[in-house]
Amino acid sequence: MTTDDFIHDYIPLFFHYQELMWDRYAHELDNDTGCVESDVYTLCHRHRYVLGKSPKSREEAVMQQIIARELVERHPLVARLRNRLDSWSNYNASNLTRAELAMAMKPDVLNLMEHRNRLAQDLGYVSYPALALKSSDTEELNVRDVLRGFLSRNLPRAKDLIKHHGLTTENGYPRLRQLGGSTPGTSRSPLELATDLAGLLGLSQLLSHVSLHVLESGFGYTGAIAVPGDVRILTRPITSLQEQATQYHELGHALAHAANTGPGLFKTWTSLSDETMGVLMERLASRLVFTEEQSQLVADISLIENVRCAVSSLFELDLWSSPERAEELYAEHYGKLGLAISEPALWALDTFRSIDPVYVHNYVLGAMIADRIITHLEALFCVRTEQYGPWLEQEMYQCGRQEPLPAKLKRLGIDLSDWPTDQGHSRSERS
Ligand SMILES: [Zn+2]
Repeated sequence: MTTDDFIHDYIPLFFHYQELMWDRYAHELDNDTGCVESDVYTLCHRHRYVLGKSPKSREEAVMQQIIARELVERHPLVARLRNRLDSWSNYNASNLTRAELAMAMKPDVLNLMEHRNRLAQDLGYVSYPALALKSSDTEELNVRDVLRGFLSRNLPRAKDLIKHHGLTTENGYPRLRQLGGSTPGTSRSPLELATDLAGLLGLSQLLSHVSLHVLESGFGYTGAIAVPGDVRILTRPITSLQEQATQYHELGHALAHAANTGPGLFKTWTSLSDETMGVLMERLASRLVFTEEQSQLVADISLIENVRCAVSSLFELDLWSSPERAEELYAEHYGKLGLAISEPALWALDTFRSIDPVYVHNYVLGAMIADRIITHLEALFCVRTEQYGPWLEQEMYQCGRQEPLPAKLKRLGIDLSDWPTDQGHSRSERS
């Protein structure tokens, strides 16, 4: 059994799973992912000999990242609980209040966390978060300190904005989505918006690999069914500034996949790299497409969301070590946003606690990295934006997972190890 054997069997399963998820979200199919998940688990179990060795190549390092993560996520107990939690109808949700639903789901969420932690420890990791951060090339970034630093710089302004827009724990998401209302840009169709932005960045040719699927009930989702040839964006008719920004975010995911010509395992991605490319496109669009007033509003929305993501991640990191204090920790962390926490039990409803664990920090890190990349692009090309895209294609997209994102950035002179971790105001994060 060799690395090549693994790649030969794994890649078709990986993309088959992406297609099943696409069908679930875009066509609302209640499909069963059990078979493919169990095949992935069996395959990774057969190749677990690679774990614990010092990797001889980047390919082998990626293989280790993938196998460790899959041995936990596709473990039959984990897969069963995660899929059960993915559909609220399993909990008879229509007859319950949100707090009752949270109470009904809580034992499964805690059980799922316990299984993940134990399986990660069986593989030699300190905890599940340690495994997740390592498999995303994030283990050296000291995520907790970076998030704390981000909060100390941005929390006061986020609290003012939350108050100003009348956001509460209950209305937060819907009201954020509607901020900005209809905008001049929104008379354009989703395809026209994507075509315009790709053109401004000199990336039009990549759109031949990307298809847009507009559904009334659609939401921001990108499916990479084959890399680089078949990348799909699920979107909806744009009715607000926030939805428009989300579509640009999805376009960022899609263009990175559509330009990835890496072989084998390098066609896959880490969550950090994927979200960074999404946020980067959102932020470039804000500069290139929106008016100054719109751009400020998008920056405000993004600041509120990133601060909430930082709070959510720090809560989660504490939750992994003290799950028995869930409600207390939830009230303690979310209380920092200045919001009244009337039902701390609601933490169990958040999909970042079950379906997408140790993920939400990627949006915050992604925003901080995206700002660094934009500063770099402006220094290189000034306002010649049609040169931004070819540079991104060559330096960020093409080689896919062949090089870890922090290493790619370091090679370009963007060093993430000097992130401010406590005091210190970063202008780009607030504008
Ligand atoms: Zn994203």
